[in-house]
Amino acid sequence: MKTTLFASLALLPLLSFAQETKLKVLILDGQNNHDWKSTTPVLKEALESSGVFTVAVSTSPPDNAKPEDWAAWKPDFAAYDTVLSNYNGQMWPEPVQQDFVKYVEGGGGFVCVHAADNSFGQWPQYNKMIAVGGWGGRTLGKDGAWLHAVDGKIVRDTTSTGGAGSHGPLEPFLVEHIDTNHPITKGLPAKWLHAKDELYCKLCGPAVNVEVQATALSPQTKRHEPMLLTITYGKGRIFHTPMGHDVEAMRCRGFYELLQRGTEWSVSGKVERTAEVPADFPTADKVVPVPAP
Ligand code: ZN
Repeated sequence: MKTTLFASLALLPLLSFAQETKLKVLILDGQNNHDWKSTTPVLKEALESSGVFTVAVSTSPPDNAKPEDWAAWKPDFAAYDTVLSNYNGQMWPEPVQQDFVKYVEGGGGFVCVHAADNSFGQWPQYNKMIAVGGWGGRTLGKDGAWLHAVDGKIVRDTTSTGGAGSHGPLEPFLVEHIDTNHPITKGLPAKWLHAKDELYCKLCGPAVNVEVQATALSPQTKRHEPMLLTITYGKGRIFHTPMGHDVEAMRCRGFYELLQRGTEWSVSGKVERTAEVPADFPTADKVVPVPAP
């Protein structure tokens, strides 16, 4: 009895400490050729349902905004452990660009989801952070390497030509972890069926300081296209997933788990607090939707 009471009392400060130290995430949205108004709440829930993160949202002005509206939009990146972009739109004002680069260079985390990798095709630092992207004026053979895998080995294709970024119709697809020892993928099934989504292909860019943890075979290119990527930029860490076209694509147990793990990794380079494997993690032949709360 005494031991139990003592143990309970001893845990109290630890519990309150854990609550105080939730990882702070800032989601950026406000412009996207996707339905950001419905997907941002899902991203927020995917992170907060782990009990590890607390999420704030900074919404940019719309694309017809006045210069003074843009001047008033100054996300306080430094107040967060990591920044998640659900933004695909106009170039940010220069002070915001500079703050963002300084933040990531200095060790801030960054999480790039789906069409956020369509953004800012002409912003060199951003392209280095995400390693590869699609659309946004990017061209194969001109704007770096088309990063993919053949037989589990990474290929940097700099000779193919044409537009960067493409996808077939929305359908479930198999995600294959080609690196099962990375903190983000460790302990998870090496192959799992992702919910109906766009399978991005032909993403290209500087592709430096990047590792690919997972791929999916594109019916379009017949190549294994990257689905989970980790990048370092200065002292900062970036987790990039091209998955997550819409609410249905995001409400997938596999997407939830990897988003949580990737986001924690972007903060610390470790996956400890989100490492527990959910009992219902998808298998290779069954999609597992996450029901709406
Ligand atoms: Zn999409």
